[in-house]
Amino acid sequence: MLCPYCKEEIAEGAVKCKHCGTMFASLQRPANYKDKVAAGLLGILLGGIGVHKFYLGKAGLGIIYLLFCWTAIPAIIGLIEGIIYLTQSQEDFDAKYNSNLKSNPSRYST
Ligand SMILES: [Zn+2]
Repeated sequence: MLCPYCKEEIAEGAVKCKHCGTMFASLQRPANYKDKVAAGLLGILLGGIGVHKFYLGKAGLGIIYLLFCWTAIPAIIGLIEGIIYLTQSQEDFDAKYNSNLKSNPSRYST
């Protein structure tokens, strides 16, 4: 692929152009990147059935939410968690839910 800024050839999926030094990390998020706004909205709107837990890869917790969805408790917890996701910083959210993506050294090899 070509760098959109300097048009030099760079490795496929590179996060940083080796020619001009432009970072593409924000442009090229991996497919399994967890978005805190999406997680927050899912928690607020669909937290009662644990959708935000499934989204964040915590299927076990999501099933517990589903089992107790007939009580109002998961909806209340989901609402609170959704607000926490939306109000915490991107760094804090990434450290908790996207840390497995950051620790992959091959993404920074170029
Ligand atoms: Zn470049």
